[in-house]
Amino acid sequence: MAAITAQNIKKSYGHIHALKGVSFDVREGEVFGVVGPDGAGKSTLFNILTTLLLPDSGTATVLEHDLLRDYLEIRKNIGYLPGTFSLYPDLSVEENLIFFATMYKSSIPDNMPLIKPIWEQLLPFKKRPAGKLSGGMKQKLALCCALIHKPTLLFLDEPTTGVDPVSRKEFWEILGTIKKQGISVVVSTPYMDEATLCDRIALLQEGEFIRMDSPKAIVNDFQGELVSLRTTDIFKLLKLMNDCPLTCTFYPYGENLHVIFYEPMETVLPPFEAFLQKNDISYDKLTQITPTIEDCFIEIVRTKN
Ligand code: ADP
Ligand code: MG
Repeated sequence: MAAITAQNIKKSYGHIHALKGVSFDVREGEVFGVVGPDGAGKSTLFNILTTLLLPDSGTATVLEHDLLRDYLEIRKNIGYLPGTFSLYPDLSVEENLIFFATMYKSSIPDNMPLIKPIWEQLLPFKKRPAGKLSGGMKQKLALCCALIHKPTLLFLDEPTTGVDPVSRKEFWEILGTIKKQGISVVVSTPYMDEATLCDRIALLQEGEFIRMDSPKAIVNDFQGELVSLRTTDIFKLLKLMNDCPLTCTFYPYGENLHVIFYEPMETVLPPFEAFLQKNDISYDKLTQITPTIEDCFIEIVRTKN
């Protein structure tokens, strides 16, 4: 059974085509990542699949229920952590959780097996107003609240955006334990490193899925030779690269420059090194590397355009 099947979902806001016909399946029990930059259409897709927003066209079933006809059934069985802050800031951590539990005619003890790993991290702050928690703690509490009615499918819209790196890591560890309970998870993120933690990902760009597969398959399909270059003056190098006589794609990657070549390494490296030396670029390392999902995304977007 598929947790979600969606066919040709479209949504426009006036003349903005936020979703241009998105089709996909989410398998039961998998962590499915929707990866894309700001404005790609992630929240629009989440709001539609959680029945908060009507699509202009397209069909979908969520947990075997028709999106339009059986929306009440869907709402009962999904959990949603929307991108915007969804808690009551003046209520304490504990009060927030009790509120959501009561709304679903449930209770904290009822759900302890499911929320325990998260709740334990929140316990030291249980009397604190939710609005006064750190970003990471807020998201853990929101996740607890989204789980309180034992959903079988969980939607998390950018749960770690703006959250510090340590809390991000902890949040993903928690997602691992949720998956182990058999809950299907659809999670969106602008962070490429998080994409690799999903079973499958869909790369969303301007309202279209431009690639959908396991992170490993996407990396394996990467065409080209990727080189990483560390230099002291990345800006000078970026400017210079426009004059590079070799066919390549280049972009800053952290403190490094990444260059994708389309011919065998032994053919391109000698002329490339000669080009760098001629232009007085000092670099301490020129290494061929395995692409990350981010490199793949850049290349997939480039070849599509
Ligand atoms: P993401 O969550 O990936 O950042 P969104 O789904 O929020 O993307 O937005 C997709 C596009 O639709 C963007 O161009 C955004 O500006 C636009 N958009 C989103 N919501 C609205 C709205 N209520 N009215 C008009 N435009 C919107
Ligand atoms: Mg969004």
